Formats: sequence, structure tokens, C-alpha cells
Amino acid sequence: MARNPLNRLVGKYAMEAKVTGVGDVTPTMKRIRLAAEAPIEYRYTPGQHVRIQINDPLSMYGLLRPLETLRSYTIWEFDRDARELELRAHLYDGDGIGLRWARAVKAGDTVTFWWPQGDFSVRDADYHVFVGEETASVAFGPMLRELDASAHVYGVLESETPELDPPLPGPHTLRRVHREGSPATSSTVTLDAVSRLDLPEEPGVAYVAGEARTCQMVRDHLVRERGWPRTSIKVKPFWTPGKRGLH
Ligand SMILES: Cc1cc2nc3c(=O)[nH]c(=O)nc-3n(C[C@H](O)[C@H](O)[C@H](O)COP(=O)(O)OP(=O)(O)OC[C@H]3O[C@@H](n4cnc5c(N)ncnc54)[C@H](O)[C@@H]3O)c2cc1C
Repeated sequence: MARNPLNRLVGKYAMEAKVTGVGDVTPTMKRIRLAAEAPIEYRYTPGQHVRIQINDPLSMYGLLRPLETLRSYTIWEFDRDARELELRAHLYDGDGIGLRWARAVKAGDTVTFWWPQGDFSVRDADYHVFVGEETASVAFGPMLRELDASAHVYGVLESETPELDPPLPGPHTLRRVHREGSPATSSTVTLDAVSRLDLPEEPGVAYVAGEARTCQMVRDHLVRERGWPRTSIKVKPFWTPGKRGLH
């Protein structure tokens, strides 16, 4: 991985880390554990992500190909005292620099990451609705851990097959649905399941993440069919065909 001392000056949020371990969460999800070289003093809210520097944005390569530099991965677990964080990468069927990095990364590698980003986090509400697929599950895990056992939680989590369901922390559960070969883009599997959710009359708060067009369909459903205000729906597109490196 290319390094550039300018990161210290321009990218004041860039940090160096060592990969301390990797493993399989499922056959299509890889856990990647990082230990930062310096104390992590930034504020952190569960649901936030880091940007992994796969190619240096300040190098000649990065200046010529800015979309081939940083990739977003949500912090699944953060231990400030140990300076450790765990990421979980969905090994999708396709190609991209993020996917190639996630497949190849191993214990002992060094990584530069940009900290911390995003405002995808739980809000106060009478009830919470989570909707997304594998990539979104990595944000939903830490967000669910933020909620009391008494919180009312609904939601839909899509994956390819039951064997590939990404685990989520209890006690709350989301309805699991499976593509079984159908596309993850504009996912009707997810939309159908959301439209069947037995939600209270009044709007709660929804967190919708993953493929951008599916997110849009789910938001439209909540607004048009259920009369939710847009402000009660937090949408975070994580990827979509034809776009690289969303953040
Ligand atoms: C805020 C945020 C947090 C994220 N957190 C996570 C996370 O914790 N774990 C995680 O695995 N991903 C996460 N993502 C998604 C991840 O950043 C994207 O999947 C990213 O596109 C991967 O980079 P890439 O170089 O492999 O593909 P890119 O070059 O960015 O994309 C190229 C093409 O690959 C396809 N593609 C990309 N991702 C997928 C996918 N998941 N499934 C199917 N096709 C895909 C699309 O057609 C896309 O146009 C997050 C994204 C955002 C914006």
C-alpha cells in the first residue's frame, strides 16, 4: 500500500494500523481486526464508518484516479483502550478495489484508515425499523447494541441464503429474507418483506442502508404507503451499480 507523509498534514484524520487478525463470519463475510498505532482520540458513535486507504489519494495515482483510493467500512466493534476496531467486509460477487483488498488482507498487514465518518446512528424513537442487506448488517450490529432490551425493534435483513445470514447481536431480531439468486439491486425481496411488516400506526424511525435503489424503494414505500415523514427515515446508500466508492 502506498504511503505519503502529506497525509499527516493534509489528512489529519488519517491513522496507521496493523491488521491483528482476520476470519470468516460467514463464507461471504470476512472479519478484519485492526490495531491503531496511536491512541484513537476521535469521538465515535455506533454506526459510523472509517475509510480504508487502498491507494493514497495524494499520490500521483490517486490524483489521477480519485475514485480508486478510499473505501468505506463500518466499525463493527471498537475498543478505545486497546486501540482496536473490527470491520466486516461483504465478499460480494463482482470486482472492485475494496473487494480485492478485503479478500487479500491478512494479519500483519499495515493499513491507513480515515477516521471517523458518518451520522448513521440510532435516534430517540418509540420504535426502530432497520432495513438492509449484508453490508448494512455491519452498521445495524453496533446500532442494535445501543438500544435497550425494552426498545421496540422491527426490520428486514436480506442475504443470499439462510447459510449466509450475517449474525446480529440480540436480544432484538430482524426478519431474515433471502435473494436465492435474484438481484440485490432494486430488491423486491426486501421491499415485499418491508411492506408486510406489522408496524404501529404512528411512524417510528427507520434506518435504511445498503444498495441505493433498494433504499430508495423502501423510503418511497414508507412515505407513500405508510404516510411516514421523510425526516423519520434515515437512508444511507452503501453501493450501487455504476458508482464506485460511495461514502
Ligand atoms: C457509509 C458506508 C459504510 C459501509 N460499510 C460497509 C461494511 O461495513 N461492510 C461492507 O462490506 N461494505 C460496506 N460498505 C459498502 C462498501 O463500501 C462498498 O461495497 C464498496 O463499493 C466496495 O468497494 P469496491 O471497490 O469493492 O467496489 P466499487 O468500486 O466501489 O464498486 C464497483 C461496483 O461493484 C458493485 N458492488 C459494490 N459493492 C457491492 C456489494 N456489496 N454487493 C454487490 N455489488 C457491489 C457495484 O456494481 C459497484 O458499482 C459501506 C459503504 C458506505 C457508503
